[in-house]
Amino acid sequence: MSERMMICLSADVDGDANRAVPGRIESASPGYDEARYDACLEGFQILLDLLGESGIRSTLFLEGRVCRRLADSGIRSDALAGHEIACHGYAHEDFTGRESGIPMSRGDCLAAINHSIRTIRETTGRDPAGFRAPYTRINKSLFEAVLDAGFRYDSSLTCEMKTCGLKPFRPASGSRELIELPLARTKDSKGRTRGSYLWPVFEKRRSIEEYIMSAEALSGISPNGFIQFALHPWHLVVDENGRRFSEKRIAGNVDALRRLCRAMSDRGSFRAVTLDEVCASSDAGERVEFDDAQGVC
Ligand SMILES: [Zn+2]
Repeated sequence: MSERMMICLSADVDGDANRAVPGRIESASPGYDEARYDACLEGFQILLDLLGESGIRSTLFLEGRVCRRLADSGIRSDALAGHEIACHGYAHEDFTGRESGIPMSRGDCLAAINHSIRTIRETTGRDPAGFRAPYTRINKSLFEAVLDAGFRYDSSLTCEMKTCGLKPFRPASGSRELIELPLARTKDSKGRTRGSYLWPVFEKRRSIEEYIMSAEALSGISPNGFIQFALHPWHLVVDENGRRFSEKRIAGNVDALRRLCRAMSDRGSFRAVTLDEVCASSDAGERVEFDDAQGVC
């Protein structure tokens, strides 16, 4: 029996065009001393509507801070029903300290993660099974904290996309391990790197059709493995520097995302799933000791 290839759309629901700031662990939006959420919440509502339209269930990596703003924005927790809720730190911490200059200890990482888990639980009534590191940067201290927090899977690492799609594997530290559901990195026909993030679509550097066609090509080769696309809701309405797109560009971004959702739901070659469903339905893959220097791929 031929299985259809699993395809996931995940969203990092975080502050508008947020970035790390030297001298502090939490992120801020360009031109502000704090993270802003106007574009995030506007884009998140658009994303939830599109997902609902196409019947696609997504994995939503929520920052703890954003959860506090959901109710005020008019997005009710029942609008998240059907989607998987996962964790993206509390304040988009620069856990590794690469840009903040403040690397966090394992204990500090765990405290921030637990703060996020408690906030997600209080505001959505649900417990996250998965974690994605802010900036997709993870080191040994953070990895240990992710294990301590009891997550079933992590989705922070980026791996080369094979001709069979992405493969889960099991990063480990001593006797403990979890499942890694990596983001992709691949080369297009011109040799340019393309990843899971749809960032270049919203910045008009690539078309959504490129992503759809590459997914279809993979599904034709092998039904094993999975494909993951990822986005930030704010990016539907503001650019990577936090400047609002024209209404025409916003409409174009929404339409591009709609075409992806339709392709994921309409085509017989895909089975659109959440990341925790990938976790549950794939064999767990190779065990690899976590390598602090370069991740584990
Ligand atoms: Zn993020």
